[in-house]
Amino acid sequence: MKKYFNKIVIVSGIITVIITTRCSNDETPATSSEIVVPNIVKTESQIRDEAYKADPIYGNIKTLDDYWLAFKTIGETQYGYDFGDQEVKIITDLTIANSDSNRDDAAGIAFGSCKEGVIDVAINADYWPEYSFNRRLILMWHELGHDVLNAAHIEGERAIMNTPIPDEYDLDIFKKEEAELFNGTDLNFFDCDDPYFN
Ligand SMILES: [Zn+2]
Repeated sequence: MKKYFNKIVIVSGIITVIITTRCSNDETPATSSEIVVPNIVKTESQIRDEAYKADPIYGNIKTLDDYWLAFKTIGETQYGYDFGDQEVKIITDLTIANSDSNRDDAAGIAFGSCKEGVIDVAINADYWPEYSFNRRLILMWHELGHDVLNAAHIEGERAIMNTPIPDEYDLDIFKKEEAELFNGTDLNFFDCDDPYFN
């Protein structure tokens, strides 16, 4: 009886091994024939950007000059501005990052403030590649605010013309802050007679 029992144990042991081997063998062709979708977890920032990219105006922005075209479209079609002809120069500039001036940590600089028909904006090339789309948009609206609207800095918790500029915000908040920039609520103009601008 004991001998017989031992045989059962050995046989069932062999069956277990066969089943285990079969299972792992069976899985191999199944996984290799499936399309493996990597489990990519989107950051909050990426999810936020998707809403901006679905917008008919912001979604068309591809190049640096496109930021100006979108800003112009919104200002002229929604807020009654006429920006006229502008000589546009918008660049990412390493000299901001590398200069020994006290502006080397600036994310961007507007050189065209108080200059009619001139847009001259330099974006810090060290920061730009790291920025999300909506952060780029906030920065560009801030610099174009300086350059085209002659807007000075203000102290406003989420205002585009605040300094430092807000990090990021959801699309609905951006549109509200954009409205307050264009409609004058958040506009505090430079004194263009100041020798600094001349
Ligand atoms: Zn500024």
